[in-house]
Order: sequence, then structure tokens, then C-alpha cells
Amino acid sequence: MQVKKPTGKVSIVGAGPGDPDLLTVKAIRAIETADLILFDHLVSEEIRDLFPPTVPAFYVGKKKGQHSIAQKDLNSLLVKKALAGKNICRVKGGDPYVFGRGGEEALALTQAGITVEVVPGITAASGCTAYAGIPLTHRGLAQGCTFITAHGETEADLNWNALANVRHTLVFYMGLSKASWIQNSLLEHGMPRRTPVAFIENGCRADQRVMQGHLYELAELVDRYGIESPALIVVGDVVTLAAQLQPEFIHSQFSDRRLSA
Ligand code: SAH
Repeated sequence: MQVKKPTGKVSIVGAGPGDPDLLTVKAIRAIETADLILFDHLVSEEIRDLFPPTVPAFYVGKKKGQHSIAQKDLNSLLVKKALAGKNICRVKGGDPYVFGRGGEEALALTQAGITVEVVPGITAASGCTAYAGIPLTHRGLAQGCTFITAHGETEADLNWNALANVRHTLVFYMGLSKASWIQNSLLEHGMPRRTPVAFIENGCRADQRVMQGHLYELAELVDRYGIESPALIVVGDVVTLAAQLQPEFIHSQFSDRRLSA
């Protein structure tokens, strides 16, 4: 009689924004003990180099406009492989539960009766700003921070009035191609034209670039510096602190020092 293999487990692992030193011990353990690794587009090469060479690893990423595999099919693949007894490590950029569709994968798996473990990772907003010398909150400058995806279900979903007036640091994920929409919407809802902004491109990687300016020129900065994905947009007075906290990364000198004004 053939013995049925026990069902496998799925670890949905956040790999952080790029620097392999930002992986958690738990993430490394999940990577090293997996039978199968499925990884995303945002998982950096340096992190992929840590995958054990004996473990099959497949790219199932979603680069803007070119999905290698549809989310529905990916969910089914995870269920099928786990039912076949594989312990799967599903590696995602940043944190799986921050704009990472980790929740959708976890739901599909739990609904199929499969054990899921979620290993949190350092989300881009946290990692990239730290490496850029921009504290997300700072006494007197920002009492909170708000993470926003510029790729919602519909553009109308965002409450621009609240965002423009909340006096939080705003961090836009997936905002590069929407920079003029973000700029115009915040300006139309009353955010000051000279609010400091920064783009962080390839954050926490060897080729990280930080480019600063003001809200009224947000979209123009993309062309001026040839900014490419992955990039985060940070909006708020905390951006001015980078000049003191990480001067070597600053590509554009800040003319309007609101801190000292
Ligand atoms: N789950 C991820 C976010 C996925 S959405 C996380 O928690 O970080 C993808 C977006 O994240 C990108 O379009 C970009 O805006 C941002 N991003 C991810 N990694 C980044 C990096 N290393 N540098 C700059 N932006 C990054």
C-alpha cells in the first residue's frame, strides 16, 4: 500500500528591501530548510545568492506589466505543491503583508487546510528611509507616517484631502509612473508647493540613489534624474534631515532648508 506523504507547509517570507544583512534569522532558516523556493521580482540578486544551490528555486514574480504567473494560478500552485508534501519558502520583497499580496496567498492556503507561517520582513518604507537618512517620524516634523500604494483598485480610492492635510510623512509605493498624479492631487488639496520630497531608487542596495526636491517639481525629478523602478516617494519635512544624517547620498542640494528657517 502506498503511504500518502504528509502535507507540506508554506512559509511566506519577507526578504526586506535588498540588503541581505536585513534578512531576519527566521527568514534565513525558512530559506535553508525549504524543499522548494518561489521568489518574486523584488528579491535582490544578493539574497538569491543565499538560496541553497541544491534546492529548486523558481521566479514567480510580478514586474509591472509582465506577470510571469497570474496570482490565482500562483495560489493554486502553492496549494498543489504543499498538498504533494513540499515545504515551500515563498520569498517576497520587503514585508509580505505590506502591498505584497501575502494576505491573498495566506488566505488561499489556509482555506485549503495548509499550514502557513508568515515571516515579517523590513518593508521598503522603513528600510529605504533608514538607509537614506530620513527618519519616518521626528518630533516637531512628523507625528506619524502613512504608507500608500499608488496602484489601488481604482484611483478614486485615495482620500487626497486627508493625505494632504494629515501632516504625516507620506510614503508612496509603486508611485514612479504616477508622480504627476500624486503631485497634482496633493497640491490641489492644499499641500504647500515647497513641501520637501525625495525619491529613493534601489533602496538598501549598492546602487541606492536618493534624489530630493519639492512637491511642485515631483514629476519633473523623474526625468531630471532618470529615476527607475523600484523607487519610493517620500513626502514631508523629515526629508530635510537627510542632509545631516546621510550627506553622501544626497544628489540634489536642498535650497529651501525648512528646518533652519
Ligand atoms: N512588500 C513590499 C512592497 C511591494 S510593492 C515591501 O514591503 O517593501 C513594490 C514597491 O515597493 C515598488 O514599486 C517600490 O515602490 C517599493 N520598493 C520595494 N523595494 C524597494 C527598494 N529596494 N527601493 C525602493 N523602492 C522599493
